Amino acid sequence: MADNTQPALHRLITKRYMLAVVLIAILSSFAAYTLKSAISDVDNTAYVVNISGSQRMLSQHIALDIHRLYQQRFITNSEQDTTEDALTQHINKMGEANQQLASGQLKNNQTLEQSEAIRHLYFGDINLYDRVNQYLNTATQLIDTEDEHTFLTLMNQIDNVSEDLLIDLDKAVNQYQFEGDERLRIIKNLEVGLWLITLLTLVLEVIFIFRPMAKEVIKSREAEQRLLNSLEEQIELRTYKLEAANKQLKDLASKDPLTNLNNRLTLEFEIEALIKGFHANQCPFGIALIDIDFFKKINDAYGHLAGDHVLKEFAEILQSQGRDSDKAYRVGGEEFVVILNRLPSERAQDIIQELINQTRSHHFNFEGQHINATISAGLYHTDLFPIANTRDLFCVIDKALYESKANGRDKLTLAVPI
Ligand code: GH3
Ligand code: MG
Ligand code: MG
Repeated sequence: MADNTQPALHRLITKRYMLAVVLIAILSSFAAYTLKSAISDVDNTAYVVNISGSQRMLSQHIALDIHRLYQQRFITNSEQDTTEDALTQHINKMGEANQQLASGQLKNNQTLEQSEAIRHLYFGDINLYDRVNQYLNTATQLIDTEDEHTFLTLMNQIDNVSEDLLIDLDKAVNQYQFEGDERLRIIKNLEVGLWLITLLTLVLEVIFIFRPMAKEVIKSREAEQRLLNSLEEQIELRTYKLEAANKQLKDLASKDPLTNLNNRLTLEFEIEALIKGFHANQCPFGIALIDIDFFKKINDAYGHLAGDHVLKEFAEILQSQGRDSDKAYRVGGEEFVVILNRLPSERAQDIIQELINQTRSHHFNFEGQHINATISAGLYHTDLFPIANTRDLFCVIDKALYESKANGRDKLTLAVPI
């Protein structure tokens, strides 16, 4: 499950990030383009305001040049070339400016989109375009006029239109100025608008892209965690079951199924540990080997099942008698071992003797039949003599048991050194 979730989540995150980035990229490209064209418009306007202003100034220069030319040509008869050149230059410049402003084709290779108000100024009632051309034609005629009367007539025409023309040229300059200011205001609003749209887009991205994405990530992490937890639980459960099964297996291997006492399997390790403990710390212990007397006869007289029952009931006596810490083992058909740890020899003898007495007086009961039995025992205790190993120990207790049997059974014999 985790293997499939990871790439899917990865794809989802990548897609959402791409969407967010593309949206911002589109928005900023749009903002850049809009601002660029607005700024270029403003640049054009500044250029146009400049031309328009110079046109106004040129009309005054031309009027002045004509008066100067009149003085030089007809009153003082002085050198006129410089004035004529200046006049020609001013006429050309003003004509060029008039052409640019009226056509909208600027010399800086830009095209000016003319407003309604500007078109009205140049081609409407005010007809600035034709009036400027007319003004320049009159001024051009004056340059080549040698007749004083004709010159004066044309100069009067110039003087008569000059003031009105100046006023209307001024209007054009103001209109361009106004339109420039208007564009600047629009740019400012546009800037604020784009800033707000960008903020809004970011907020919307947070709400509709990043938040759901974060939720998906958290959900996936939680699912992963749940999976881990459930795996951990499963492992814990399996470990627990395995431990239980192991214990069961160990019990099965180390327990005698008929009497539920321990069997031989662990006995030797226990005895080895006791011998070591005694040699190291002088911890006393006793080991008794017990055998049911004439057990074969019981089998023969009452049957094998009755024999089994006697074995089970005897195991119960063994466990109920003595101390809780004493351990009992079934080591053969009707043979048992009892370990009596950390107690003196006398006490160990008492316990085994008490077991012999109790068995003798006990009525084993199998399906309503009373069966009597006795036991014989051989006992080794560390107080009696030291023992080197398990083999020697079994040897001395076997011998002691044999002595009990040989001396009439139903009794306890203490082991003696070999
Ligand atoms: P002794 O007093 O010398 O010990 O005589 P005994 O008859 O007890 O000894 P013997 O070794 O001759 O016989 C032991 C009998 O125990 C033989 C066998 O059939 C019987 N036996 C061994 N294991 C079991 C068992 O699990 N169930 C039953 N019913 N009998 C068993
Ligand atoms: Mg026996
Ligand atoms: Mg026996």
